[in-house]
Amino acid sequence: MKRIVILGGGESGVGAAVLAKKQGFDVFLSDMSEIKTQYKEILVKNEIQWEEKQHTEDLILNANEVIKSPGIPDKAPLIKTLNAQNTPIISEIEFAGRFTKAKMICITGSNGKTTTTMLIYHILKNAGLNVGLAGNVGQSLAYQVATENFDYYVVELSSFQLDGMNEFKADVAILLNITPDHLDRYDYNFQNYIDSKFRITQNQTEADAFIFWENDPVIKAELSKRKIESTIYPFAIERNEKTKAFIEKDELIIQTLKNLIIMPATELSLKGLHNTYNSMAAGLAASIVEVKKDSIRQSLQDFQGVEHRLEYVATVRNVKYINDSKATNVNSCWYALQSMQTPVVLILGGTDKGNDYSEIENLVLEKVKTLIFMGLDNSALHKFFDGKCKNIIDVDSMESAVNESYKSASAGDTVLLSPCCASFDLFKNYEDRGKQFKACVRNL
Ligand code: ADP
Repeated sequence: MKRIVILGGGESGVGAAVLAKKQGFDVFLSDMSEIKTQYKEILVKNEIQWEEKQHTEDLILNANEVIKSPGIPDKAPLIKTLNAQNTPIISEIEFAGRFTKAKMICITGSNGKTTTTMLIYHILKNAGLNVGLAGNVGQSLAYQVATENFDYYVVELSSFQLDGMNEFKADVAILLNITPDHLDRYDYNFQNYIDSKFRITQNQTEADAFIFWENDPVIKAELSKRKIESTIYPFAIERNEKTKAFIEKDELIIQTLKNLIIMPATELSLKGLHNTYNSMAAGLAASIVEVKKDSIRQSLQDFQGVEHRLEYVATVRNVKYINDSKATNVNSCWYALQSMQTPVVLILGGTDKGNDYSEIENLVLEKVKTLIFMGLDNSALHKFFDGKCKNIIDVDSMESAVNESYKSASAGDTVLLSPCCASFDLFKNYEDRGKQFKACVRNL
């Protein structure tokens, strides 16, 4: 019997184990850390063998195939050993894809994945399609393939998941943008990361769709080097020869073979230029799977947004508070600032991944009246911004960040939390940071 070993006992690993067991394989799951109780219960209930806080090589190296959690880097010693003995290592999505005939709508990019994924899911669900949500959001694809019977899946894919995918094919592939990220996992070689993102188009034929941002310089350069078999659906603000979604005279236009959607851009529920791109990508995807145009238009108007992504929190004394805690890199902060239409008090800082702040320099000069540096070590921020903004305040907790921004803002301003950095110096994760922000704002 084929032996499948799963490394990592989180959402994707446990889902893969359940599916593998259901398919009749000999299954073993191993996690170097402690496995959460909820997942242990699933493993026990499904009579799957597992271990935690260790990797027992004797039980792992005899695998015919290994399913690796995207969190485990290739340089981990166990992965090196498996690679040296040529054991195939795949991702949970690759594995799950073998056991379903559902149509796959897959989203990747450096920024905007979750927002676009949730928006597409919202449109398809509202249109009454039998659709599941998977990947980095919600339940794992494998678990749903084992327990549900969906006709469509909307799947958010990180580059790490794509790395473990070879045979998988997206029926509709979306590549939102590519900016340098996670380079520590790609030997500090940007091209490796680009190659990983482009796996979203692998195995596609003319019958499949590839949606991408036409003006992304990195995507553009890469496309000139590659031969893509898929039918392409580029989107951009300005229409070009092949553009399928664009803005013309303040109207958003989405054009596919069977659909033509025209709606005022101001009616999109998600605000900001970056979200216009996300809405274009989502509208194209929904059109391609033949959702009716009125239904797409309605759903693009009533989507509620995703927590921690330019999320409106409250207005206090005529000052708006916006939570963009998920902005963990400089590029996403750029889009947040770009969409601001009032003077801004900007809260930023945290664990700096070697950021280059010059990308937001002009927007800070133009829109930001006060910078609040919130981190254990704000030296990189001072080095870049000192002398460029009149008011700079250092804080080391969310409570003081919000209190200082309250004092600094005047009626009509916006206080924006868009940190450009990871959160691990002061918070558990970006969700914790966003939730603390909202709680402090509501206490004002
Ligand atoms: P991801 O899942 O790729 O991390 P999210 O949808 O969670 O993306 O958004 C992450 C951050 O990036 C948010 O701060 C958001 O405002 C910003 N963002 C969203 N869409 C885009 C886009 N298309 N381009 C650039 N930044 C974006």
